[in-house]
Amino acid sequence: MAINLKPHAFAGNPLRSKTPKAEDPFAPIPALETLKTQLLDSTTEHHVSPPTFKVLPFRKGRPLASSNGGVGDLVPNWNLGWISLADCKDYLANSGVQLNGDSLVYLGSRPEDDVVYWAIDVSDEGGLVTEFATKQLSFVEVRTLMVATDWADSVAMGELAIAGHARALLEWHSISRFCGHCGEKMVPIEAGSRKQCSNELCKKKVYPRVDPVVIMLIIDRENDCALLSKQSRFVPRMWSCLAGFIEPGESLEEAVRRETWEETGIEVGEVVYHSSQPWPVGPSSMPCQLMVGFHAYAKSLEINVDKEELEDAQWHNREDVKKALTFAEYQKAQRTAAVKVEQMCKGVEKGQNLAADFNVESGELATMFVPGPFAIAHHLISSWVYQDSFNGVEAHLKLPRSGSMSSL
Ligand SMILES: [Zn+2]
Repeated sequence: MAINLKPHAFAGNPLRSKTPKAEDPFAPIPALETLKTQLLDSTTEHHVSPPTFKVLPFRKGRPLASSNGGVGDLVPNWNLGWISLADCKDYLANSGVQLNGDSLVYLGSRPEDDVVYWAIDVSDEGGLVTEFATKQLSFVEVRTLMVATDWADSVAMGELAIAGHARALLEWHSISRFCGHCGEKMVPIEAGSRKQCSNELCKKKVYPRVDPVVIMLIIDRENDCALLSKQSRFVPRMWSCLAGFIEPGESLEEAVRRETWEETGIEVGEVVYHSSQPWPVGPSSMPCQLMVGFHAYAKSLEINVDKEELEDAQWHNREDVKKALTFAEYQKAQRTAAVKVEQMCKGVEKGQNLAADFNVESGELATMFVPGPFAIAHHLISSWVYQDSFNGVEAHLKLPRSGSMSSL
């Protein structure tokens, strides 16, 4: 299986490439101590000794963003709306809130720039929206930013990964307010990377959670076809891979086989791991899904769709799937989304709930299309389509029959 050298969208977070050692000033606990000292110091604005702190405000799961504006034919670029610790303190003070270090969540650092990065949830401070708007900053859905990101631009993809990680952490904080053991309040510890029950007799610790999901392209080797499915929540004409949650006591391979059988009645034999992708843009009850991608080979071909799970599932030959990849206008969708983000930041576009628009990944020319390059499904599909079909068949014919390994 080909090795993916380029990380998927939401992976490759540049703030997390190296975790500082516990005693390092850029590590979560020492950094929080310094930050708290700076907050108490009324001369914060003049504080120059490193590290410096940058804060990314979030409102209802949306990070603050700016857009640099595309001049002429250039597509606008969005950027995360980092603010200084001093500005964050001032903004909150204007809303009558005193900034407390414990409401900041550590995101990571860039020691080469002397900066430590934090996120803060300001959902309760509605007044900030107007205040930021005067600076051409707007809270934008991560999913919208995802579609608006040029996936060939590694710096922009790094910003998207930071936004996704921060959103996942803050969502986890907001759904883990109370102890599942005794019901008391949970408080953040270790700069927000853990939470602990405030009940002295309980002190249960919880860790940010990841929900693994298997996602698989089912392949029929004999006929050189792949199984694509449609869900009713998909935009019209979009087809994708099967996916499903892992059940307790189940291996990933078993989950692939069970989900495929339950949803389509197809039996799966060999299951081959492809790659994985953090997916922080699912439902808020699951702040970070981890999509674990596979190619899985069918042992039976007859489709029997579970209509409660899927709208449809069909075998498609390689040429048709290649057309679905070729004709979909992902780049056009990206430009449209980038322009909309620009309009939101400039205050031209007032609507906040634009996510639905951006689920449309544009497939105007295609009779069918598949999810865009920011989704692992796209890569599971395209890596099958662009495998050398002759080699694929040959490899299949060379599969060892009983005892033939010794003759290779
Ligand atoms: Zn407890």
